[in-house]
Amino acid sequence: MTNAGTGPVFPGIAGRLALVTGGSRGIGRTIALSLGAAGARVYLTSRTLEAAESVAEEIRAEGGEAHGLALDLSQPEAAAETCQQLAKSTRDDGGISLLVLNAGMTRDGLIMRMGLPAWREVLDANLTGAFVVTKSLVPAMIRGRFGRIVALSSIVARIGNAGQANYCASKAGLHGLVRALARELASRSITVNAVAPGFIETDMTRELPEATRQRLLEQVPLGRLGTQEDVAGAVLFLLSDLATYITGEVVDVNGGMAM
Ligand code: NAP
Repeated sequence: MTNAGTGPVFPGIAGRLALVTGGSRGIGRTIALSLGAAGARVYLTSRTLEAAESVAEEIRAEGGEAHGLALDLSQPEAAAETCQQLAKSTRDDGGISLLVLNAGMTRDGLIMRMGLPAWREVLDANLTGAFVVTKSLVPAMIRGRFGRIVALSSIVARIGNAGQANYCASKAGLHGLVRALARELASRSITVNAVAPGFIETDMTRELPEATRQRLLEQVPLGRLGTQEDVAGAVLFLLSDLATYITGEVVDVNGGMAM
């Protein structure tokens, strides 16, 4: 991705090794494609290798470099092993320096009906998963004295949402993780931030009944749902050299729905 005559739109991304968890669909896919277009060497994950490889193939078809990986974050021990293998196999190239913790899932239910398995699965995938991936990949960033970590949170971490106690808690937990790591890793020039999308056009929001969609839109001052590109733009900005002095921040991308 370049700006005619003025160099890359997002400087500092080309040539770096990037990992996008949950890059097979939705926002993660758009982030992975944008990173590929910006010249990053992209690793992207899905729970199935085929789904990850199909997006990697799209990047390669545009002349980029990309690799698909199978990773299920609801199994944190196995996920840690996969990420440690990735750290090992990329060690000679300096390791992953751009990390996007995008994978996320929901298992909604009102508290009276939400069982411990639904609570645990969402906390494991969204929060513990982010911890194990980061823990495996951060040693290379520390060695290289450079890193950019961006976690995908959500507006509901701040404003809450009925029926999503597990999801809201997992995303609010990411804010704490991001701020702790930002302090811990700053001396090695590693920045750690979150992007908190509002309601974005994805498969999930496309399925909403028209009346619910209208009610939501009335709460968004900019008068539309966000696009996946709106979110990817904020993520690439935080990964780039335009954002070297931003760390420990949660950037809202919600059309003004919460401010
Ligand atoms: P999505 O379309 O549902 O895609 C989720 C991605 O995460 C997929 O690539 C999926 O891979 C992966 N994933 C799901 N469960 C996983 C698990 N247990 N282990 C590993 N990977 C898993 O999601 P999205 O709407 O693009 O959202 C992306 C991120 O933004 C999420 O963290 C979400 O919470 C956050 N967000 C989204 C919205 C929105 O309006 N869409 C709003 C706020 C925040 P598979 O191929 O294996 O399914």
